Amino acid sequence: MLNTNSKPALEIRIRKKKMSKIGQETKFMRPMKSIVQKLIYWNWIALIVFSFASFGWAFQLETEQAHSRAVLQLVFVSLNYAAKEQFDRDVSVLIEKIAVIKPFDEFMQDIAFSKVKLSLQEEKALFKRKDEFPYLAVRQDFLDGLTQRLRTNYKLVILDATNATSCAELSSLAKLSLIIVGRARYPNSDSFAKGFLHELGHSFGLRDESPNSQAKLCPPGPPNCATTKEEAEVWWGDLVGKVSNARFVRGCCGNKDYFRPTIASLMNNPEKARSFGPVNELYLRQVLQELLKNKEKKWDVSLLFKRR
Ligand SMILES: [Zn+2]
Repeated sequence: MLNTNSKPALEIRIRKKKMSKIGQETKFMRPMKSIVQKLIYWNWIALIVFSFASFGWAFQLETEQAHSRAVLQLVFVSLNYAAKEQFDRDVSVLIEKIAVIKPFDEFMQDIAFSKVKLSLQEEKALFKRKDEFPYLAVRQDFLDGLTQRLRTNYKLVILDATNATSCAELSSLAKLSLIIVGRARYPNSDSFAKGFLHELGHSFGLRDESPNSQAKLCPPGPPNCATTKEEAEVWWGDLVGKVSNARFVRGCCGNKDYFRPTIASLMNNPEKARSFGPVNELYLRQVLQELLKNKEKKWDVSLLFKRR
């Protein structure tokens, strides 16, 4: 549940008071006489640091699938759902789809999934419709609260039950980005899941591969939309002729003269595609592997979930 009263501020004051008391005690207890005393001291510090991690909106985060080695979180948020059971079913459909699509299927132990279920009042307080892209503004303190809770890279996936617009910020893995999936746009769960994967691709930095005018909003660029053949050769020329479906195909980002790497990929027409295509798969795999390499430097998110 969200919390709109001033309770967090009050809690901060109480905790600060306890901290200063500990400071005084250490002055008189110096040097610490026993290991037991040191342990008690550090336990207090750990408790205070941990409780500071829960500021912002007091929302309930339901863990759908947590993994001790997760380096990426997908957080699903409900919007305009009449029945939360339908939201649960929709989230399950999306997780099942990610688990079988390349290259995400290779990283299922590294991706954690969670849900935030909101009441209609909470939705009104958190989200505001906008005329321009990405069409929805999210309250900053909610995002900050999630960042503090998760302590890892996360993508916020808003499932909007009544809207028919889907979009995502063209982003990188290291950045928080917003993915909005207009559930009403999709006639069945398969097209819904594929539409979601298309937006997920954008949130990792993949471009629109459609040559049609509605894709003009997306700027061309690496890894999958080259403005010239020369550029395309540099970016994915090493795969052409060696891997099936890797080619130089005309048309992407709404321009018929640009080049894309695959005839039909999820980044082009999700309805007709079964995969991201080899060039995008390689790119996504490299990005996820890079994150795994740097994992040791990051906070272990599984500890947070176990303690809550
Ligand atoms: Zn798109």
